[in-house]
Amino acid sequence: MQSYKELSKEELLQKKIQLEEEYKKVMSENISLDMSRGKPGADQLDISMEMMDVLKSTDNLVCEQGVDCRNYGILDGIKEAKKLLADMSEVPVDNMIIFGNSSLNIMFDTVSRSVTHGVMGSKPWCKLDKVKFLCPVPGYDRHFSISEYFGIEMVNVPMTVTGPDMDMVEKLVKEDDSIKGIWCVPKYSNPQGITYSDETVRRFARLQPAAKDFRIYWDNAYGVHHLYEDDQDYLIEILEECKKAGNPDMVYKFCSTSKISFPGSGLAAIATSEPNLEEIRKHMTIQTIGHDKLNQLRHVLFYKDFDGMIDHMKKHAEILRPKFEMVLTILERELGGTGLGEWISPKGGYFISFDSMEGCAKEIIKKCKEAGVVMTPAGATYPYGKDPHDSNIRIAPTFPNLSELKKATELFALCVKLVGVNQLLENK
Ligand code: PMP
Repeated sequence: MQSYKELSKEELLQKKIQLEEEYKKVMSENISLDMSRGKPGADQLDISMEMMDVLKSTDNLVCEQGVDCRNYGILDGIKEAKKLLADMSEVPVDNMIIFGNSSLNIMFDTVSRSVTHGVMGSKPWCKLDKVKFLCPVPGYDRHFSISEYFGIEMVNVPMTVTGPDMDMVEKLVKEDDSIKGIWCVPKYSNPQGITYSDETVRRFARLQPAAKDFRIYWDNAYGVHHLYEDDQDYLIEILEECKKAGNPDMVYKFCSTSKISFPGSGLAAIATSEPNLEEIRKHMTIQTIGHDKLNQLRHVLFYKDFDGMIDHMKKHAEILRPKFEMVLTILERELGGTGLGEWISPKGGYFISFDSMEGCAKEIIKKCKEAGVVMTPAGATYPYGKDPHDSNIRIAPTFPNLSELKKATELFALCVKLVGVNQLLENK
């Protein structure tokens, strides 16, 4: 397709009239769709329903450690659940603690504990004048909300196709001891679907932070969420890399089964070094007598082992692949070559990241909403909700069914064109 940027004023005006006609027609269809959050569709939830049946008899309620899972006992997770999530996270079982139903909750607790009690003997962050986190952008809004909630200043670090700009990360953490953390989604990142390269992971492991209590928040939320069996991204295991680099305590690795079993009713875990785990357990003892062991057992009995989980993920991929391909096909058909936007085709994860021309994202989202399609708010992928370029839009294709998704994506592409044409005309 011809680039819209090369069109004359007259040609653009003609396009504008035509696009406005189309937009009016869609408006009259009264559609109402939600492409805002990365939720699985009901058909994806259905494939885990058998998990509800695995605890029907009283035969298998005692875990490996000999504890009745219906009762109190075992603070940091039953052994078999640790094994399942350790295999999923590619770490030794002894490096795992199973928490409750949400990895985001563990991240919040981890920051909260550092604020009130410090990290392994360092001064609590609440007693420091300034605490900063590096935030690869675009990124996950709920990470940024945690930092903001605790008054932690966020510093944007641009993402590249191989992960965050590591020159910048290395320099900043080395120079500034108020930088205490960095939010990372290293595999099939939210929202771009980028996987950090080997070199990026190795550079992370070799960081030389000025702050002793600097930690990498390695949120591997999409570690096993491939779309294709024969074309998958590979991520180096960071705990082992940090150990090899002489920085064994520098990383907290988070995971959950939220988008494997049930979001909000899955299992979540942290993997980290023994000294970090010891500190976490100390706080956990005060916080809870123990998390939901019946849910842990349910997951173990349902998946059996990590191979079972991989097979299960193939079923998710079967459902998700056509949705991602549908969005990408429409984007290419409607916007390819127009110069009105760029996007990345991910091989896994839950999102497609779209970058419009500068200064257009908010208006595109507004136009979509007026015609009945709710998207993630523009700016949400940046700290404080402020995208300096007003350009990044997170597309979440998982929740709507295929026909809804087709409608929503076509409307989205139409809005991109309409807003783009208007902007180009303004600049003529
Ligand atoms: N991290 C990332 C990167 C996510 O995209 C999500 C879910 N949208 C979460 C964490 C939340 O996970 P959980 O349900 O385990 O809290």
